[in-house]
Amino acid sequence: MLVMKFGGTSVGSADAIRNLGKIVKKQLDKKPIVVASAVSKVTDLLIETSKLAAGDDYSQNLKKLKEKHQEIIKSLNLNIPEVNTLLAELEHQLNMIKNSRQLTAETLDLIQSCGERISVCIVAAHLQSIGINSKPYNAYDIGMITNSNFGEAEITLAAPVEINKKITSILKANAKKELHSAHVPVITGFIGKDKNGKITTLGRGGSDYSAAIIGAAINADEIQIWTDVSGVYSADPRIVKNARKIEKISFAECSELAYFGAKVLHPKTILPAMNKNIPVKVLNTFEPENSGTIILSEMKKSDEIVKALTCKKNITLININSTRMLFAYGFLARVFYVFDKYNISVDMISTSEVSMSLTIDKDMNLDKAVEELNQIATTNIVRNKAIVCVVGVGLKNETGIAGKIFSLMGQHKINVEMISQGASEINISFVVENDEAEKAVKLLHREFVEEYQ
Ligand code: ADP
Ligand code: ASP
Ligand code: MG
Repeated sequence: MLVMKFGGTSVGSADAIRNLGKIVKKQLDKKPIVVASAVSKVTDLLIETSKLAAGDDYSQNLKKLKEKHQEIIKSLNLNIPEVNTLLAELEHQLNMIKNSRQLTAETLDLIQSCGERISVCIVAAHLQSIGINSKPYNAYDIGMITNSNFGEAEITLAAPVEINKKITSILKANAKKELHSAHVPVITGFIGKDKNGKITTLGRGGSDYSAAIIGAAINADEIQIWTDVSGVYSADPRIVKNARKIEKISFAECSELAYFGAKVLHPKTILPAMNKNIPVKVLNTFEPENSGTIILSEMKKSDEIVKALTCKKNITLININSTRMLFAYGFLARVFYVFDKYNISVDMISTSEVSMSLTIDKDMNLDKAVEELNQIATTNIVRNKAIVCVVGVGLKNETGIAGKIFSLMGQHKINVEMISQGASEINISFVVENDEAEKAVKLLHREFVEEYQ
């Protein structure tokens, strides 16, 4: 079995959906399960419209949302009444926000879910129109159960078992009915439901994660992430013109890249696949013959030292100095307790016995955490920084690489504020000013990827 996830641009136009159809048709013998994102830019537009609805006139935005979908449906020659029902539901929800002048995290998730719920109807109708037995499914109806952390929900322990049960029974029931062709379920990415039946979302870019959860739950042979680039590159091709496609990369390396900003994969995607040892392929919907990138568990030493570079902008740097009321061990424990208590996830840490620097990418609850930290330490918060991350299994055995990286930064007057090398030794990360991050990535790419043959 195969899970094929198609991102926003891959369902973003009638032509893209036609490509999708051809790609699925070619692999029908592998029993594909399709996971789809919302049409490209729709999630942004839904968020913007919800915020507008709480105060202003949102009718132009709503019109845009309707037209975007209707245009695709028309070009594909389809007639999908379910989409009109969903658009009417969206309008109703926006009206409720307008009347109450209030937008809660819960309502925002409900509204965002319309993007994926509509796109799966379009994709399944198109597959059906080209002779593939297909049906749209909302992920929450096939077991995607999450906690109630709206906007960034996490799946529950029970979810994979439930997903396996539901998908198996869908495929069985349809195999009896449809003898001549595989039944292809098209499932919404990005969304789930909590135990109270409220719709949740898994965080921006979360459809990759949905695909990985589904793939792991059904023990798929492969998880394919179909997107608008031909694989994982040595740097974001939008930043570095000469970025190269990586043929093979390990789960560990790819995980570092994803956590430190490479948007091509949602950071949580790797773990479910890694646990079940399911290969993940990143492929291009607009160039399907390209072999893409394969992500595997092996960490074979390769010739190159640096495999890829990435940066993550707009992070917050927090410096914490103990007021020496606690011993070293008490201090570190207390700091982590506070971050845990306020659900703040830490990206990078560098620490001594009595001081600590760390970075976070979401400021939510930070004020409360700092208030509590100030009882044991002095804290200093610096916003608008960026993390630059250098990744490669080869870093492990290369002496003097850190020296080379930082002298290159020094030569180009890029100020480095905090440095960290993870225990796995496959990455070196450091903090720079936001507006120096891309320059740093370009310089490092030229030095360690382009000139390293
Ligand atoms: P989708 O909508 O298909 O999920 P995304 O926009 O989320 O697509 O991710 C694909 C984008 O990720 C690419 O267009 C590219 O600009 C960006 N990207 C960032 N870093 C990398 C990288 N190292 N390799 C490939 N793409 C990257
Ligand atoms: N549609 C969602 C987003 O734009 C999820 C995804 O595309 O993966 O964030
Ligand atoms: Mg994405």
